Amino acid sequence: MNMRYIKYVAIIVAITLLLQINFKDIAAQTPPVTLTKPTTAEKAPNVDGFIQRWFILEPIAANGLTQSAVQELVKNEPFPNQFAVIPRDGDKVNVGGAELRWHAVDTLNYNVNLFHFARAQGKKTSDVLFWAVTIINSPREIRDVRLSIGSNAASVWWLNGQEVIGIYGDRQAVIDDGVSKRLTLKKGANVIRAAIVNGGGATDFCARLLDANDQPIRNITVSLGEVKAVPADDDTNLPAKSISTAISPVKLSPDWTEPFEPFKIAGNLYYVGSRGLANYLITTPKGHILINSDLEENVPLIRASVEKLGFKFTDIKILVISHGHWDHDAGSDTIKKLTGAKYMVMDADVSVVESGGKTDFQYGTDPTTFYTPTKVDRVLHDGDKIKLGGTSLVAHLTPGHTKGCTTWTMKVREAGKTYNAVIIGSPNVNPGYRLVNNTAYPQIAEDYEKTFRVLKALSCDIFLGAHGNYFGLEAKYARLKKEGFSVFIDPEGYKKYVADKEQEFRNELAKQKAALPK
Ligand SMILES: [Zn+2]
Repeated sequence: MNMRYIKYVAIIVAITLLLQINFKDIAAQTPPVTLTKPTTAEKAPNVDGFIQRWFILEPIAANGLTQSAVQELVKNEPFPNQFAVIPRDGDKVNVGGAELRWHAVDTLNYNVNLFHFARAQGKKTSDVLFWAVTIINSPREIRDVRLSIGSNAASVWWLNGQEVIGIYGDRQAVIDDGVSKRLTLKKGANVIRAAIVNGGGATDFCARLLDANDQPIRNITVSLGEVKAVPADDDTNLPAKSISTAISPVKLSPDWTEPFEPFKIAGNLYYVGSRGLANYLITTPKGHILINSDLEENVPLIRASVEKLGFKFTDIKILVISHGHWDHDAGSDTIKKLTGAKYMVMDADVSVVESGGKTDFQYGTDPTTFYTPTKVDRVLHDGDKIKLGGTSLVAHLTPGHTKGCTTWTMKVREAGKTYNAVIIGSPNVNPGYRLVNNTAYPQIAEDYEKTFRVLKALSCDIFLGAHGNYFGLEAKYARLKKEGFSVFIDPEGYKKYVADKEQEFRNELAKQKAALPK
């Protein structure tokens, strides 16, 4: 190597060092060239399995890179709920009097450049602690998975609340520098959380998941909130097909988002739902009523179904739901925005809907079930009627499954006759529901009792419900062309369904009572 070349290299090195020193603690805001704002709901890992979407909290002042110093920092809970929070972009937390914000970021690289991140916010990049959170949606349970990370500098990592990696000291971000023991990735949402502590200079991290053969896992998606939970109710009757084909990276319960041919049930009542989630359109000369909004990603399907039947989506004037669970109400905010419809919800579910699921008695602590909070325009009470263009829809409170679970009834005119249609809200006792000593819902068992009293008292000709599997949608639809709308006239099927569900409830109640300490 000649002297001139060495000199040249020396100058480059000197300039690089100078730039680094200059940037190190400058509060000037510089665009984070390697980071962008997420614009899609979900993102697959890159070709090498690196996770490129994260929530990052603006840096917290911190000192020390040794194991004891870092562990003390992270166990100190600088902000409340640090091990449980699933933030939203722009959420603020208070740390020692300073207000710090969470930012959703996509990185263009395999790694996340925290130096770029902090500098873009005009924040310190030295002697700081960064929190990072992301959600991995897995299409199925995957065993013998390892979380594999690199970080500059020290970092601690958690998967689903369990601490799985800690690497300490001043170090560069090297791919697969820290690798967890074999873990199980749950079907559905998995939360990865990290704390990265930087002393000075550059700071970044990279993370990926490796399978049992140490190959990068790529058939997962990464999302930030708004994630679908593993079906928590009504999924026991899913056709086996749906379960075995549940390998799509985006769909956890494929039949929920699987298109279904829209059709007229009878009179002005139409089916516009997916294979797994039921939606009903009630048309009138003054505009339409839509029952249920489903998952966010169902909204385009519902719209397509409405239009295929020859109606205008924007003519939907009123939106109602079966009950305040994400699979029936997560798309409500979007539908309101697209149509300007008035959102009408039973009193006891209003808080759940308006909090985006956060006040639900059972799932309020499970961020994977949250969705966009949606303003309710009219609060309904048991027995209230919704009237539009000559049609009247009655809201019957059938509580237990949720506090404001609603069964809808209406009269349908078809071929000169009038029929009573009943759309059941849900009589299901979900896995994990406590029917006795439930402090979040003390009267739950009495509420289910009320529900079965109400359902048994209703006069039902046309039997429908919040999910197609309540009333045998697929089998009845298959007969529709040949036999006509009378396939939906099924008072006996309704009675049997209600009786079966009541028995299930009584069995579960007896089981839970028997398990109580004497
Ligand atoms: Zn439900």
